[in-house]
Amino acid sequence: MRVAIAGGGIAGLTSAIALVARGFTVTLYERAPVLEEVGAGIQLSPNATTVLARLGVLPHLAQATIEPEAIEIRDASRGARLGIVPLGPAARQRYGAPYCLIHRSDLQAGLLAAVRESKAINLHLGLKVGAVRADDNGVIFDAGGTEQHADLLIAADGVRSAIRQKFFAHPGPQPVGRTAWRATLATADVPQTIRRDITGLWLGPGGHLVHYPVRAGASLNVVVIASATGDTPPPNPFGREARALIDVVPSWIPWPLFGVDASKPWTRGRVALIGDAAHAMPPTAAQGGAQAIEDAWVIAAALASQPDDPAAALRAYQRARLGRVLRIVREAERNLAVYNMHGIAAATRNIVLGAMSPERLIRRLDWLYGWKPE
Ligand SMILES: Cc1cc2nc3c(=O)[nH]c(=O)nc-3n(C[C@H](O)[C@H](O)[C@H](O)COP(=O)(O)OP(=O)(O)OC[C@H]3O[C@@H](n4cnc5c(N)ncnc54)[C@H](O)[C@@H]3O)c2cc1C
Repeated sequence: MRVAIAGGGIAGLTSAIALVARGFTVTLYERAPVLEEVGAGIQLSPNATTVLARLGVLPHLAQATIEPEAIEIRDASRGARLGIVPLGPAARQRYGAPYCLIHRSDLQAGLLAAVRESKAINLHLGLKVGAVRADDNGVIFDAGGTEQHADLLIAADGVRSAIRQKFFAHPGPQPVGRTAWRATLATADVPQTIRRDITGLWLGPGGHLVHYPVRAGASLNVVVIASATGDTPPPNPFGREARALIDVVPSWIPWPLFGVDASKPWTRGRVALIGDAAHAMPPTAAQGGAQAIEDAWVIAAALASQPDDPAAALRAYQRARLGRVLRIVREAERNLAVYNMHGIAAATRNIVLGAMSPERLIRRLDWLYGWKPE
């Protein structure tokens, strides 16, 4: 079977690797002439690393990753510690896979190395997938001005997916109402008061701050998310301790956040949406990339179990994924609201969090992090 993939982000690269592991031949089209990632980090929870381990990619990332001891939740205005979610060895023991922090370019380099090593993947950079037509026998699409044929097409073309909008006729991405300001900082420039062995999550009215080490501890990834716009994050709601970090960041990448309606169909005949093209969500569960990685495993498994009926296999992929992904989208949206509460609601949240033991806080994530392929 000839499988075509549009898009070489986390979803496209991981799908290609998962498909060749099942014996398929893949052609991957990426519109960018050079694969580059935004200069920022990504958290890979155990549900994602378990897939990367099974695909043989995780060992190649080991030099570049770091496993945080915990997620430390703090009040952004006052600095008070609200809760601890134990990770590190506790996550490995609980889920049989690590919780990893990595720079996006290191993750991409690891995935790309696996793609380039495989003779069954044809990678075409600088070729944009355009108009798509499909019937019961196959898919015909434009790639950089030439007509291409495949038995099926996986659209991994991100939150602004043209295939989602044109071939599926789904609405375009919707603003989340928040901007993320992203930066990385040399660890030597990080104030001593900021821990470098954890993921820090500072909650405040209308905005929050996340930081964690990347590049095996050489840099700190810093993200401020707030309901504002501009080149730099707003001063509020951050108090002295959070500001000590925000103020030493020399430059920010502002990133308006968008999501898509994940409840719309992900498959139409022999064409399927995957990753952000299917279900872009707010980053407040740190799951967009992880869900793209889960998708990649499941779509490859579905096609391997029904290679003679690709359309049925793609429908099986959506059936297997939809309930879980919609639950995660709701969780991300709920987290966004809870992280940014004001007044009495925020005070109540802080009391509730403060009363929860580390064991209870991690147990609440078992359904999410404990997912296993098949
Ligand atoms: C601030 C922030 C923090 C985040 N933190 C986390 C986190 O900690 N953990 C986590 O799991 N997720 C996180 N995410 C989400 C995660 O980054 C995304 O879900 C993930 O990158 C989506 O990958 P993708 O491959 O689906 O899409 P993309 O990364 O957008 O890749 C799409 C690719 O398709 C290409 N393309 C587009 N159109 C075409 C075309 N027509 N033809 C060919 N190629 C095309 C693009 O050039 C691009 O390379 C975060 C997101 C943000 C914004």
